[in-house]
Amino acid sequence: MLYWILPELIFKKQIQCILSFAKAFIGVYYDSLTVETGNPEIESITTKPNEITCIIPANLFKADTLSFRFEYCLFKNADFAAIPYSDFAMQANKKNVHINAAITRTDNWFPKLKEEQIKRLPPFNLTIIAPDTYEVMASGKLKEIKMENGKKYFSYSNYDELSDRSLYFFINDNHRVEKVFEDGFKLIMLVPEDTLEGNVDYLAGLVYSSYRHYENRFGKTNLNEYKLNAFTNKDMGYSGLYNSCNAPDWLFTKPISNNELYFPCRDLIHEVSHTWWGNIVAPDASLDYWLFEGFAKFSEPQFLKTFLGDSIEILYRKRLKMMLAADVDFLPPLRFISDEIQNSSLKSAAAYYQGALFLYSLLELMGEENFWKGMKEYVKSNWGKTVDSDDFFEAMQHNTNNNIREFFYDYLDKPGFAEYSIREVLCERRDSLFVHHIEIVNTREKVLFSKYQKNSEIVKDISYLYLLTDMKKEIEIVSSYSYISNLL
Ligand SMILES: [Zn+2]
Repeated sequence: MLYWILPELIFKKQIQCILSFAKAFIGVYYDSLTVETGNPEIESITTKPNEITCIIPANLFKADTLSFRFEYCLFKNADFAAIPYSDFAMQANKKNVHINAAITRTDNWFPKLKEEQIKRLPPFNLTIIAPDTYEVMASGKLKEIKMENGKKYFSYSNYDELSDRSLYFFINDNHRVEKVFEDGFKLIMLVPEDTLEGNVDYLAGLVYSSYRHYENRFGKTNLNEYKLNAFTNKDMGYSGLYNSCNAPDWLFTKPISNNELYFPCRDLIHEVSHTWWGNIVAPDASLDYWLFEGFAKFSEPQFLKTFLGDSIEILYRKRLKMMLAADVDFLPPLRFISDEIQNSSLKSAAAYYQGALFLYSLLELMGEENFWKGMKEYVKSNWGKTVDSDDFFEAMQHNTNNNIREFFYDYLDKPGFAEYSIREVLCERRDSLFVHHIEIVNTREKVLFSKYQKNSEIVKDISYLYLLTDMKKEIEIVSSYSYISNLL
């Protein structure tokens, strides 16, 4: 079986001489590279491992557009099967041919400008040639499918105005199902043959309504379509890409029964949100992984509560805290500034769960209205760009009169949780109730921000505690209990 990929990059007014391949292509190397420019004035092109140098005459630098065409073969390393996530990044067998672009796994099999690996791709055309019984999902908008010599040619190019972060394609033995919703939104689903009819409608509805919800919350894409591909591999079934995602085969072929935290379907909703978190705004996963995963985790209950009510969010927040409880003494900071932090499960705990909890704290600190304005501004002012945590801080600080700098960067750059000491200073009787005077001291170099209930009988009587390092505060709590242990 033979597959051809014909990618073509078009550089618009950003011509550089050196292009390089990302070194992070897991388990795979390339060979027999040739570069074609279609322009005889580009005199010499030399290729070194991971690098292509083109000598471009000065007069061509003034041109609006230069095209490069690369042809090369990809090979698996000898120890491919033993390398974690290699199979998720790339595969070529009879059931499954793909190059993924999900977060840290592949970042790029296609050359980008040197020293700027996290930069976005320029506009592109991508043609995938596959056997006629296979379906393809790839980066960008599908322009045409044509048959030639018993093979299908799938031609894709970037969506208007915005190119992908990395090119990807998936060739699977799937069937194409297209659902068009009343407002014209089109969902292209590539599903296994034994897909259950009810699952197609249910999953399509879920993707459509979560996508629309996130557009309202985070910013409209105006793309009016989404691509969903069924995909199974040994490491993971899900990848959240730009305006598309993969979900495992069994989600289509087995009856779906979600638990009280909406698993398994919350994972699909999570991937839908990655159109924004990691693609419309594109952080560097090695540094700001939480800008992908904390945001996607936080986005799950935002959509779910629109039809399951606020109780799902309360349950979610409890669950986030439980997920972190075991790691509380080892938790790295949100931003991975130090190479010392190597443990990938701790890094994930920080990015996913601490990241989502941090966004909840920000929401409480800023108030709902300002918080959502800040989130929208973060997306709008960084649309189609690479971002870091400072860009997010700027957007949030811009939408509140409180100074959030100390709190923000403490959680970004300092490990673990805030710590405090607590003691009762005085307890008075007031009618049948007890008034507890409680002193709380921040004992760590990390801002302490917490919600507390002022009256144990009134759930909604809430106040907030905000303590800088070494600061202490006395709070009053009214309760029918005489002991504070009942209140904590
Ligand atoms: Zn994710």
